[in-house]
Amino acid sequence: MLESNFGVLAATLFGSAIGSFLNVCIVRLPANESVVAPRSRCPQCRKALAAYDNIPVLSWIVLGGKCRSCAKPIPVRYPLVELAVAGVFGTSFWYYGFGVEAGRAALFGTLLLGIGVTDARAYIIPDEFTWGGLGAGLAFSWVHGFAGFLDALLGAAVGFALLYFIAWAGEMVLKKEAMGGGDIKMMVMVGSFLGWQGVLMTLFGGALIGTLVFGPVTLVKKGLLVPFGVFLAAAAAVTFVIGDDILRWYLGFLTGR
Ligand SMILES: [Zn+2]
Repeated sequence: MLESNFGVLAATLFGSAIGSFLNVCIVRLPANESVVAPRSRCPQCRKALAAYDNIPVLSWIVLGGKCRSCAKPIPVRYPLVELAVAGVFGTSFWYYGFGVEAGRAALFGTLLLGIGVTDARAYIIPDEFTWGGLGAGLAFSWVHGFAGFLDALLGAAVGFALLYFIAWAGEMVLKKEAMGGGDIKMMVMVGSFLGWQGVLMTLFGGALIGTLVFGPVTLVKKGLLVPFGVFLAAAAAVTFVIGDDILRWYLGFLTGR
């Protein structure tokens, strides 16, 4: 038990480091900058960070949320993303134990977080998250053999077909782009992780959350850009965790059992 607790702690700390890297991706990918060079800088004065000022979560707290050089505030987004990814990793390895499933869950959660935050900030869903994630989703699916791979492939295909159709239909009706290409690519990736039922559930959930949150706002502020990827990411995470339970409940509801 102690050994597994230590393992979960190690996974959590590793997750915080991945979260630190995710912060770099969130800022640099939409700007088409390299995520490896140059090394981490202050977002305000662009001075390179010393290693001791780049420790996930802790450095931000020690520095009081301010840059050591220019004293300008460092967004709270940085420690929050690090904490969230640490949580995703810790929970995944605690729940699944040390194995491929835990790695798959941790990676999927990290991708969704990266997509959600990037879309919220920049209205862009980078290909690195979607196409890269698709590759990972298809690779991980082999754990369940060829049948698992086919499931993932089918999920990706349904994700593409469904979103492509919605984008096309939306454009016909609204006479403008209703859904970005990033959303389509994102759902292809999501399908490779969740299968075709998961795609349907994610789309339904994303539309529901999006309407609840943004419906009232868009009524007031017409023409507001809606980062749909944020809601799709939230719905995909929920589907990953309790999708099977929802499906069972829904089927029971339909058949009256
Ligand atoms: Zn600075």
